[in-house]
Order: sequence, then structure tokens, then C-alpha cells
Amino acid sequence: MSDTPALGFDTLQIHAGASPDPATGARQTPIYQSTAFVFRDADHAAALFNLQEVGFIYSRLTNPTVAALADRITALEGGAGGICCSSGHAAQIMALFPLMGPGKNIIASTRLYGGTVTQFSQTIKRFGWSAKFVDFDDLDAVKAAIDDDTRAVFCESIANPGGYITDMRAIADISDAAGVPLIVDNTSASPYLCRPIEHGATLVVHSTTKYLTGNGTVTGGCVVDSGKFDWSASDKFPSLSAPEPAYHGLTFHEALGPMAFTFHSIAVGLRDLGMTMNPQGAHYTLMGIETLSLRMARHVENAVKVAEWLENDDRVDYVTYAGLPSSPYHGRMAQYCPKGAGALFTVALKGGYDSCVKLVDNVNLFSHVANLGDARSLIIHSASTTHRQLTPEQQEAAGASPNVVRLSIGIEDANDLIADLDQALAAATA
Ligand SMILES: *Cc1c(COP(=O)(O)O)cnc(C)c1O
Repeated sequence: MSDTPALGFDTLQIHAGASPDPATGARQTPIYQSTAFVFRDADHAAALFNLQEVGFIYSRLTNPTVAALADRITALEGGAGGICCSSGHAAQIMALFPLMGPGKNIIASTRLYGGTVTQFSQTIKRFGWSAKFVDFDDLDAVKAAIDDDTRAVFCESIANPGGYITDMRAIADISDAAGVPLIVDNTSASPYLCRPIEHGATLVVHSTTKYLTGNGTVTGGCVVDSGKFDWSASDKFPSLSAPEPAYHGLTFHEALGPMAFTFHSIAVGLRDLGMTMNPQGAHYTLMGIETLSLRMARHVENAVKVAEWLENDDRVDYVTYAGLPSSPYHGRMAQYCPKGAGALFTVALKGGYDSCVKLVDNVNLFSHVANLGDARSLIIHSASTTHRQLTPEQQEAAGASPNVVRLSIGIEDANDLIADLDQALAAATA
């Protein structure tokens, strides 16, 4: 569909990346449950292995169902190429892998999904990589943190656990000036609400586990490359700009131009790290994406209603949702996500930690789970769960203080959601 860029979002979410199956005419994208694909002959096999011809070899690298999903997400994000992986966390490692090396660092926003803070502050050290966490509203601090070993800047568009919108244009300008790519995790917004590439992002990462699938069935991730970064402008990115020893000396950027990152991620990243999405999982996400715009519109409509009701309730201390005029980040909504600030936010209770725990124990319709972006409404007390591994300072910075619960508002009837919270708040504050 790449030759018809004029198609609208609602059309692309159904058609991009997929056409009727050439072998059978199947209208829906089949689940190509096959590990390997037959070569026409020895020359065909050699051409595929040399990247002279694009095709399917082995499903750790590429699979037709997974490729349809990658192409669809790429179209929705307005990118040049995309790679699906086994989870959102896998996508983050896959995004960093071609850029990093021992001794190199990334500059990361303090406002991130709890698991990402742990991945960046602890686990990546084992690769010799490190992260410097900075308040991304302090642009001078972001600039000052970048040094000669910095290889990427990382933030979320609408940051988990909600209520914060990153000033991506300002951060992209700083990254550009420093000659390093900006990676934006667009999970909480989805491309329906926000398209980070339009605001200067080089790479967009997703946990497709969340809104893209939309029903809490499968984990998955995706990296979308804008195709706009000049990997050869400096000697900082030798995996892409210099002969790659792990791929018989191919210089990816020279040979593949705007598709360099995508092909490197398949030919080296998926080949050697093996963080592959399976075709069954891709199928569930393809089904989910067909209704993404309809769901996101309802998620936002419900989130606004529930957040407004909570903000006006006496038992509530404050609500952090950028969709409310009271939010300091409400102004950024017009620039970055005019259709809405997502459906994820936190609510602080006057009763503090104890009331929060009682609230999650007394909801009926809301589910107490460590997930977000489901059709169902979800609730969690971040400080005792997803953000438990963080220090009190990190919890505070991430918006996951002990006195707040995080809500992921689903697409049920808003009145039923409000009634459930009302009765649970009564029990929590009795
Ligand atoms: C869930 C999530 C992740 C991690 O994704 P998984 O699919 O669980 O690995 C990363 N970033 C954000 C914003 C998330 O919500």
C-alpha cells in the first residue's frame, strides 16, 4: 500500500500491509504457521541470503503474517520500515541494538513505564550500556547530559502511568543538534492519537500488547524507523555506516539507504537475538488494529468522563490526566495529540496508601491487573506492583507515588465505570 499514501487512517488500519492471499484468495491475512519457506532454486536462496532479493527464509527472521503486521504499523506511524518482536521490551532492545556498544549511553526521560526504568537502569548494564535519567521538561539538563558516548535519546509520547505529554519537538531539536536519534515509545498514545515521526522521532517503539491488540490476548512489540536519520553523518553508528562483520562486510546504510535500520534489525538483530514475534500472535494484533481508531476514540471519551467525575469527588486529592484543563500538560495536547490524551491516568486519594489498596480490593468491573490498553477497564496500585522495584525518588518522578492508583479506562459504558469507582471509593474511605 506504500504507493497510495493518501489513504486515511481508518482505511490503512484495515488494508495496509495486506492483500488477498495470492495462493488461495483468502481475504483475511492467513496465519502462515510455517517455520521455513521453500527456495525456488539455489540462486534464489543465495539472493535471499545476500539481501539482493526480499523474501521469506525462516520465521525467526521474517514470516508473511508478521510482515503484514509490521507493514501495517509502519503505515499507521508514517515510517519507512518496521520490525515486529516478541514484546514491547524486546522492541526496546531491538531499537537500541544497532546503535549501542560497550561504554555507550542513552539519555532517558524519568517519566517511563516502570519496567523500562528497570531495563534501562539495571539490565542493559550487562551489555556495557548505560542510561542517564533526566527530567525532560528541563531542556538544559537534557542537553547537558548528552556526551560523546551518547547514542540515543529515549522518551514516551504520553508517558505511563499517565498525565504527562513529552515536548517531543523540543527534545527532537536537541537530539538532532547532537547528531543522535530520538526513540519514542508510543504505546500509550497509539498512532491514532499521536504520530511521533511527525514531531521529529527517528524510531518509534511499541508494546503491541496494549492498544494495538486492544484485548489483552498476546504480547508483542514493534520498532518503526522513520528512514530519515543519516547514519553516515558521523562515525557513531558503525553497525549501519561501516562494513558489518556479522553480515559478510555489508555496509547497511550505503546499500539500503532509508531501509538500513530495518534490514539490519532483521538480518542481524532478529537473526542473532531471536526476539521474534510468532505468526499466531501477529494474527491477534492484526485483528485488533482493524478497530484501533474506533476503540481509541471511545477510550478517550470514557477517560475524560471518568477523570472529570473523579476530579470533582471529595475523596480524591487530585487526578493527573493531560485531557483535563487542570493538567499542566493540557496545552501540549493540542500540539501532539489533538484527538485526546489517551486513557491512562493516575488518581491520588486523600486516604493515601491504605485507601489505594482498599480501592483496588473493592472494584468489581475494573480488573486489578498489571496491564493497560485493554478493552476492559483496569486498575493497579503502581507503587506496590509495577513500580515496586523503583526507589521512592524514582516512583515519585515516574508519577507512581504510594498515594496514587493508575487507571486504564476501557470501552465499556462510562456510567458503569463511574458507579463502580463510586462504590469502591465508599468502601475505601469508610
Ligand atoms: C507495557 C509497556 C512496555 C513493555 O511492553 P511488553 O509488551 O510488556 O514487553 C513498554 N512501554 C510501555 C509504555 C508499556 O506500557
